[in-house]
Amino acid sequence: MAETIPHAPSIVDKAIDGKAFAAGLVDRITGASARLRADHGVQPGLAVVIVGEDPASQIYVRNKGETTLRAGMRSDTHRLDAGTSQADLLALIAQLNADAGIHGILVQLPLPGHIDSTAVLDAIDPDKDVDGFHVVNAGRLAVGLPGMVPCTPLGSVMLLKDALGDLSGLNAVIVGRSNIVGKPMAQLLLAQNCTVTIAHSRSRDLPALCREADILVAAVGRPEMIRGDWIKPGAVVIDVGINRVPSADPVKAAEGKTRVVGDVAFKEAAAVASRITPVPGGVGPMTIACLLANTYVAACRANGVEPQPLDA
Ligand code: NDP
Repeated sequence: MAETIPHAPSIVDKAIDGKAFAAGLVDRITGASARLRADHGVQPGLAVVIVGEDPASQIYVRNKGETTLRAGMRSDTHRLDAGTSQADLLALIAQLNADAGIHGILVQLPLPGHIDSTAVLDAIDPDKDVDGFHVVNAGRLAVGLPGMVPCTPLGSVMLLKDALGDLSGLNAVIVGRSNIVGKPMAQLLLAQNCTVTIAHSRSRDLPALCREADILVAAVGRPEMIRGDWIKPGAVVIDVGINRVPSADPVKAAEGKTRVVGDVAFKEAAAVASRITPVPGGVGPMTIACLLANTYVAACRANGVEPQPLDA
C-alpha cells in the first residue's frame, strides 16, 4: 500500500490573503450600511480632503472614493490646490465637522510644507476622525475607551485573529514605533492580552528580539530588512511595509521599472513562519476596508445606533 506523505504547507498555503479578507469585510460593511439606511434613514458619509497634486496621493484618494461608493456610502472628495492656505483648509474642516451627513473626515497626507499637519489633524472632530490619528483617539485607545482606531493596525489585528484565534499570552514584537502604526498596534495587541515588545532604530540586537516573537509585526519602511533567520519557527508575521525598489529584472530596472516589497524578506521568512502577509496583497487592502468600517461605526454612533459586529 502506498504510504501517505504528509502535506507540507507551501508558501501559498502560508500566505495570509489580505485581499480576500478585505473583500469579505467590505461586503459585510456594505450589508450593515444598507441596514442602517433602511432601519434608521442614515447613509454613512466619508469626506476625503486632498491638497496638491502628489500622484500617489491622487491614486489613493480615487481608490478610497470608488470603494466608499461601492459600499453604498456617500463619498465627497475635496480637491484643493497646492497653494491653499492653512486657514482655508481649517475652515473646510470646520464646515465638515458641522455637516450632519458627513460621519468621517480624512485628510490625505502628506500636506504641503507650509501647512502644519498636526494642527489640521487636531481640528477634525475626534468622533469623525476615521483615520484615528487625533490625539484624543490615541488617548482613548491607550486607556481602553471606545474611539476611532488607526486603520492599518486595526486591519492587521483582524488578520492575526483570523489566523490564530485567541492571541492571549503570545509574545508580540513590533518593529517600528510610529504614531500611525507601531504604537497603536502595540495598544491593540496589549488589549488582546499579548506580551508586547516595541523595537525601533535604537533597539539592541534586533534579530534576537525578533526571534522571541510568536507574532512579529514589521512597520519599519526598510525593504526586506527582516531576514528569515530572525524569525522563530512557526511564528506569524505581519509585514506592514510598503517599499518601492528597482525591478528584479536588470533590463526592466535599467528602464526605471520598480516593484513593491515589504520590510520582510518574504521567501526566507515564509520558509520559517507558519503564516505571513505578502506585500502586496496582505495588510494593504485591509487599510481601506477598515477606513469604511470606521466610517460605518462613526455613522452609527452619531445616530445612537449600536454598530453591527463586522467580524467574519
Ligand atoms: P515611520 O517612518 O513613521 O516609522 C518607522 C519606524 O521604524 C520608526 O519607529 C523607526 O525607529 C523604525 N526603524 C527605522 N529603521 C529601523 C531599523 N534599522 N531598525 C529598527 N527600527 C527601525 O513609518 P510608518 O510607521 O509610517 O510606516 C512603516 C512602513 O509601513 C512603511 O513602509 C510604510 O510605507 C508602511 N505603511 C503601510 C501601510 C499600509 O496600508 N500597509 C500604512 C502605513 C504605513 P525610530 O522611531 O527610532 O526612528
